[in-house]
Amino acid sequence: MRWRRCFELRRFRQASWDEPLIKELSRPGRVGNLIPTDSKIRSKYKDPAALIPASVRRDSVNLPELSELQVLRHYNRLSQMNFSVELGMYPLGSCTMKYNPKVSETIAGSDGMKYAHPLQPPETVQGLLSIFYELERALSEVTGMSRFSLSTSAGAQGELAGVLMIRKYLRDHGESGRDEILVPDSAHGTNPASAAMAGFRVVKVPSDENGQVRAKVVEALCTDKTAGMMFTVPNTLGLFESEVAEVSAAVHSAGGLMYYDGANMNALLGRARPGDMGFDVVHLNLHKTFATPHGGGGPGAGPVGVSRKLADYLPVPVVTKGKKGFALDYDLKHSIGPLKGFVGNSAILLRAYVYIRLLGATGLADVSSLAVLAANYLWKSLDPEAFVASHGNELLRKHEAVVSVKSELPGAALSVAKAVLDYGMHAPTVYFPLIVHEALMLEPTESEPVEVLDEYAAALNEIYRKMKGGALGDVPRNTSVGRVDEVKASHPMTLRVHW
Ligand SMILES: *Cc1c(COP(=O)(O)O)cnc(C)c1O
Repeated sequence: MRWRRCFELRRFRQASWDEPLIKELSRPGRVGNLIPTDSKIRSKYKDPAALIPASVRRDSVNLPELSELQVLRHYNRLSQMNFSVELGMYPLGSCTMKYNPKVSETIAGSDGMKYAHPLQPPETVQGLLSIFYELERALSEVTGMSRFSLSTSAGAQGELAGVLMIRKYLRDHGESGRDEILVPDSAHGTNPASAAMAGFRVVKVPSDENGQVRAKVVEALCTDKTAGMMFTVPNTLGLFESEVAEVSAAVHSAGGLMYYDGANMNALLGRARPGDMGFDVVHLNLHKTFATPHGGGGPGAGPVGVSRKLADYLPVPVVTKGKKGFALDYDLKHSIGPLKGFVGNSAILLRAYVYIRLLGATGLADVSSLAVLAANYLWKSLDPEAFVASHGNELLRKHEAVVSVKSELPGAALSVAKAVLDYGMHAPTVYFPLIVHEALMLEPTESEPVEVLDEYAAALNEIYRKMKGGALGDVPRNTSVGRVDEVKASHPMTLRVHW
């Protein structure tokens, strides 16, 4: 198979932790640059350091001294120790690791973008501001919201902005006694964390045996203390919530507001809108659904959108269009204030804009169809004896599939996840959602051709057979780092510091 060949090639010179550190390669006086040999220049710049005023000059910056080729090899080797969607399938559920088109990278790297400064007068960055304005309109259209603020730079920060807006709105309307937020037990961990950070008490909503939140259950949990509910649709089991409209109605009639966790909009894009399901606040993860790079800690963008009645509560700045053109408005009447400098991670916003404009409305709808098809195809290709659907109704399964590994072995899901790395593919998300035993969460996204989905399913099925026969061994073997000690990896932290 293709991946076998690819991995044999990689093993030929596999980067590993045994490589010397760049610091260890250093030799005093070795340089990676040349001062021109022309005699006139030479005599003028005999001591280039002398050109820097003595008061700001450092005697030693203690940087490694290497040749240009050594530096090149060092960084290329580091890049080989990584995995990325550009090397293989990356079905890390809930993370939507889709392909990031290269054209967006080119545009984000253009001079106009690279050299723009956040403190530039607005009249000199009208082009960029107009793009942010149009992006804001597009996101409002996609979600059925009235207005967006783009600045929040992650899903979690968008959530915090959202619940802070709910809190301020309720206080302004004489409802400051409402201090509880409902959060389903299938929710992403950031939901209860954001609610708690905003000063709310978190009330857990149990899902039923089909992985669904029932309106009756929500209704029974609503009281005059209910500030709102954070809801993820489709939920983290990859299932559409069939009673979402009834749940919204129940929370609204109890006086609360509805928050939509739209980190994973891939299933609804161009097909259905949270605004039409009764949500008042949403956040989107541009670094997931809208094809901007993520992994390794950012940068991201988690814009937050609201219905009309909350429009003045958005974090500032928001982009406005007036007689004098486009501008950043810091004077929203009830704003919760700024959460991030300027307009946020502008290059990420630009990439999302390019993605939306490339695809258009019908293209976005095709994305969601393909993402849902790929997840369902992958799930159907798995051995049903080995990987059991965690919950529910097939018709509700959307952009990702959560399965439970059928095994008595402790840590079976972890073993499968480690073994798949040897096939040159990324592991699924494991042990999430928490309500699923030995969970694997697979999200292939719309990017993968069917042959790759077939290879992935074949790999998982083969791994399961090996595991059952006791022949899995100590996996992974082909990666730069083998099986790590999960406990030791986080505690105690022992850093290999060499200077
Ligand atoms: C990723 C994710 C988040 C958090 O987004 P970050 O950008 O990582 O902060 C929240 N909810 C769901 C469902 C997610 O998948």
